[in-house]
Formats: sequence, C-alpha cells, structure tokens
Amino acid sequence: MPSLDLPEKYGLFINGEFVEPTEGGYFDNVSPIDGKSFIQAARGTAADIDKAVDAAHTAFDTTWSKASVTERSNMILKIADIIEANADRLSKIETIDNGKPVRETANADLPLVVDHFRYFAGVIRAEEGTASELDKDTLSLCIQEPMGVVGQIIPWNFPLLMASWKLAPALAAGNCIVLKPAEQTPTSIMAVMELIQDVLPPGVLNVVTGYGSEAGDALAGHKNIAKIAFTGSTLTGGSILQKAANNLIPATMELGGKSPQLFFNSIMDADDAFLDKAVEGAVLFAFNQGEVCTCNSRLLIQEDIYPKFMEKVIARTEAIQMGDPLDPQTMMGAQVSLAQHDRIMNYLDIGRKEGAEVLTGGSAKDELGGGYYVKPTILTGTNSMRVFQEEIFGPVTAVATFKTVEEALEIANDSEYGLGAGVWTRDMHQAYQVPRAIQAGRVWVNCYHAYPAHAPFGGYKKSGFGRENHKMMLNHYRQTKNMLISYDHNKLGFF
Ligand code: NAD
Repeated sequence: MPSLDLPEKYGLFINGEFVEPTEGGYFDNVSPIDGKSFIQAARGTAADIDKAVDAAHTAFDTTWSKASVTERSNMILKIADIIEANADRLSKIETIDNGKPVRETANADLPLVVDHFRYFAGVIRAEEGTASELDKDTLSLCIQEPMGVVGQIIPWNFPLLMASWKLAPALAAGNCIVLKPAEQTPTSIMAVMELIQDVLPPGVLNVVTGYGSEAGDALAGHKNIAKIAFTGSTLTGGSILQKAANNLIPATMELGGKSPQLFFNSIMDADDAFLDKAVEGAVLFAFNQGEVCTCNSRLLIQEDIYPKFMEKVIARTEAIQMGDPLDPQTMMGAQVSLAQHDRIMNYLDIGRKEGAEVLTGGSAKDELGGGYYVKPTILTGTNSMRVFQEEIFGPVTAVATFKTVEEALEIANDSEYGLGAGVWTRDMHQAYQVPRAIQAGRVWVNCYHAYPAHAPFGGYKKSGFGRENHKMMLNHYRQTKNMLISYDHNKLGFF
C-alpha cells in the first residue's frame, strides 16, 4: 500500500474537532484490496450521536443560521477547492477504502464530488423567493428556511460521492448536519474532514462513524433531528422510514435497484463508433465492480441481434483488466468486503440452481493478493429468476431477449424496483416513447452511468422517493414560511 499520510486511527468529528468515541472504542477498517486492516475507525454509539446532534443545534442557533447565503456559498466553494487540491491523495484513499479502481476514483468520483459542492454553492445564490400581491392591501411572501439539524446516512459504494450528494445541498440550504458513513468505508470522509475542519464553524458538520445497528439506528431514531436522508438498501430504508414516521419528520430514501438496459435492433445498423459505445454501455455492468445502485443488472436484447451483439459484449467483458485497483491500468478492482464477495458468490449459485447459464465469468478471482475479487459475470435466463429480480450488487448482469417493444417494456417493468434504465436505439420514436413508458426515475438514452450535479436522480417504486442532485434538492432540506402581510386599516369585523 502507498503511504498516504494517514493516522493510525480517526476519532469522531464532532463540534469541529476529532474526539474519542464515548464508549464504543475502535474497529479495524479492512481494505478489500488485500483483506488487511489499514487504519482504525471510531465506533460511534448513541451517546456520540447525542453529542453530535447537540453540537449541530448549538451551531445552528449561534452561527450557521446567521450566516448569509453568500457566506455559506463561499465556504462550500472553499470545501470544493480543498478537495480538488487534494484529489490525487483522496482518490487513492477512496480506492484503498472501497476497492474500486483508482482510474474511476481519480477520473469520476473525485471530479464529481468537487462539482457537486460547486453546483450547490452556485445554485443557492441564484435562488429567488416569491412575493405576490393577493389584493391591493395584502402581500404574500414565501421564504425558504432550513430544516435545522438533519441526519444523513450513506452507503459504501461511492463513499465520498454519496457524502457530497448529501452534504452539499443540505449545507447550501442552511442546515447543520450529523452524517453517518458506512462502516465498510469510514476513512475517506474522515480524511476530507481533516482537510476542511477549519472551513465551517464548529458543529455545522459532524461525522459519526460506526455500525448501522448502533450509530445509524441512534441517528435515524433521534428525537431532535428535523429530517433524515438515507441512501442504502431497501430493507434498511424501510426500518429508517418507520422511525421517521414515529418522530413525524420527513425522510428521503435513495434505495436499491435492478435496472434494465434495452438494446433495440437498430443499433446494429449504426456506425462503428455508436455500436462500440453501445457495447461499452452493456459492459458498464462491471463499472465500480457492479456496486452501483443503478447497475445495469438486466440486459434485454432484441432477439434478432442477440448473437452478434452478445459476441461483442462477451469479448469486451473478457478483456476487462482486473487487478490491483491502485494500478491506473486496472479496470475492475475488489468488492467492498468479504461479506459482499460471499453474497455475490451465493447469488451465482442461486442462478445456476434455478437454471441460469453462465456466458462468461461465474467465479471468484481470489488469487489476486488475498482481496475480494469476483470476475465480471454474464448470466442468461428468464426475468422470473431471482438473479433477474433481486439486487446482487456485484459485477453480474442477467441477459434475456425480447421480440417487440411491448415485450421489452413488459420485462423491463416487471420489477419491484424503478431506479435506473437504459435505452439504446437509433429509432427516434423509440428513443422518446420507450423511456416514457419505463417505470424508473432515471432513464439514460444512448448512454449510461452519467451523474451530473444538475440532473435530478432518484427512484420510482421500491427504489425510494425524493431526489438527489439538481436544485430541486434544496427543497428537500427546506421548509416554506409564508408571511401574509396586511396593509389594510380595516378589521375583519367578526368581534
Ligand atoms: P445498507 O442499507 O446496509 O447500509 C447503508 C447505510 O445504512 C450504512 O451507513 C449502514 O451503516 C446504515 N444502516 C444499516 N442498518 C441501519 C439501521 N438499522 N439503522 C440506521 N442505519 C443503518 O446498504 P449497503 O449494503 O451499505 O449499500 C448498498 C445499498 O445501497 C444497495 O441496495 C444500493 O442499491 C443502495 N444504494 C442506493 C443509491 C441510490 O441513490 N438509490 C446509491 C447508492 C447505493
């Protein structure tokens, strides 16, 4: 492992400083690259969540609610600048923490993190309130106020990017935050906190690492937060939502997916460059080791192009270079944890037992340095199989064919999830009508896995509700105050 100037351990970041966990001690943060611990992370518990929420309230009352929009925006811009200046080191820490290749962390994750902070720093200054004259004596003013102190819980698959998706809009909207990162990847966000610890007033942003059943549970059920924002599995989302209901606070849920990608026969008549793009689009199921909520985990291919198209997809999949994710040539790294690795292997067994055929891959690649590696795998079968219906969250995609547009849509929508989808076609009618008929919050047309800050992202069905990114996100972290101002000298006349 390269020396990245990391300490032996990170405490919790509460009230602007790193502090010891109250009672939980520390746990090993294991790198999936080699299965060895590379740093200790603090095991925050309910007592630490209490402290963090208290610090956030004090910060909200004393400093953050008094900061002007310009001041908030400038601080968020400074966070972006510091992350950008340290992107090389942070991308390597992210790779060690998560196992994903450095060519992704350096070229996708970190630039997107920086852009998310910049986008929300900019968009908050462009916001305008509304004033309307209800009649000649009455003015209605709508003023957007922050919620106050919000809780945020994030997963391990894009640790810094998921953090930026949560932090940037919440800070821009004027909230103070308690963030709980995933226990599998607690380090990169703490490296960021170390770098930015003097940018925000103490207590505005607090980060409590720890387990979901301890720190996460305590944050989700805390009586003194005004909102909970969650990204993670559908199962956990359900239990967090129940706690939010008990506390009568709003919640946003970004949950799991089983995203279909539809390939229509017109792509085979396209020029070489487009066909090449479509083949890569299919192979993007292996992006980030398949640990993407919108992983294109179902490929639906029009029957008449199946043999030729799949030949190209399989060849490209088999050319994926696996190995040490810190090597810039490596295209696919390690799964985040042994548990995730084993879960994927178990799904491959389930697939075989229910009759799915393995077209390529289908096994682990454990000879790579003791880490948690799984070969990119393509299965073929029918949409009713568990490997077509359940989120595997690994480099595994399941392929089926269709004859008509109607059949393609029927299969695509036959899922409890509705997060992402992809449509590949050269037919302009299909390119509009098919995405409109797909039940998903994000449909990519002739592209896949792009996540710009200014396009709204989120789920239909059991993939959640609320949106991430785009300025509409600000309203998930604000409440509207209406001031109704009378200039009328006359009383109502009832009393
Ligand atoms: P997970 O639900 O197990 O954990 C996510 C977070 O919740 C972690 O921080 C964890 O510690 C915490 N947590 C776990 N149990 C908790 C509890 N009882 N109370 C409070 N917090 C708890 O999910 P995961 O396996 O870490 O992440 C993968 C999942 O996230 C996948 O299902 C994936 O699709 C989803 N995901 C969705 C999006 C999206 O935008 N829709 C993005 C990334 C990941």
